[in-house]
Amino acid sequence: MSSIANNIHMVQQHLSETAKKYHRNSEEITLLAVSKTRPVDDIKDAYLAGLRHFGENYLQESLEKIDTLKSLDICWHFIGPLQSNKTRAVAENFHWLHTVARFKIGQRLSDQRPPEMPPLNICVQVNISEEESKSGCSVAELPKLIEQLSQLPNIIVRGLMAIPTATDNTELQRKTFAQMKQLLLELQQNHPHLDTLSMGMSGDMAAAVAEGSTMVRIGTAIFGPRAPKTAQ
Ligand SMILES: *Cc1c(COP(=O)(O)O)cnc(C)c1O
Repeated sequence: MSSIANNIHMVQQHLSETAKKYHRNSEEITLLAVSKTRPVDDIKDAYLAGLRHFGENYLQESLEKIDTLKSLDICWHFIGPLQSNKTRAVAENFHWLHTVARFKIGQRLSDQRPPEMPPLNICVQVNISEEESKSGCSVAELPKLIEQLSQLPNIIVRGLMAIPTATDNTELQRKTFAQMKQLLLELQQNHPHLDTLSMGMSGDMAAAVAEGSTMVRIGTAIFGPRAPKTAQ
């Protein structure tokens, strides 16, 4: 077994034990492999180990990988920051985008989504830790943004995503993820189809699963430590 396959096995084991502990069905939790900076051979290993959802952060790099791997039935997620002049490539090549925080981006994506493709799945990124430096929609502006985005024909709002301030304090991790769950529950009153909480990374996946994550985004625990990314 490759070390990637072995790591995936261990992550899956950890996820299912955590789900059980918190009385959740592990089938409701998608393992999204974050493959930014990794070579396509690593993605193939993870694919052979059974994974189908892959997340990328850097547009140019991801487009090359998507093209190289186009014979595989991979569901591609864009999870990096997206400038408005780069929306077309995401609309034309991805199944999901996790980092929408402005109506204008949603509008462009809906306009640019090719008509023969199904609507693009999107999550609204929430600046849940309310950091000045972090991207994401503020909690106060969230209901209006979800309402506006829901009117657009070629995107479908699936739920919320967050990248909380990193901490080793599991209580703090859980508190933040619980706030996300609460936000989703409130939004579901007007938008009952919302079904996704994209939250949890290698360092806080257990806390995220405990609080209701439906999609954990895991890089390091699957592929090992990343080399620092140089500017693109
Ligand atoms: C890199 C990245 C991840 C994965 O982080 P790990 O700590 O390597 O698991 C998850 N989500 C986003 C948005 C990322 O950029």
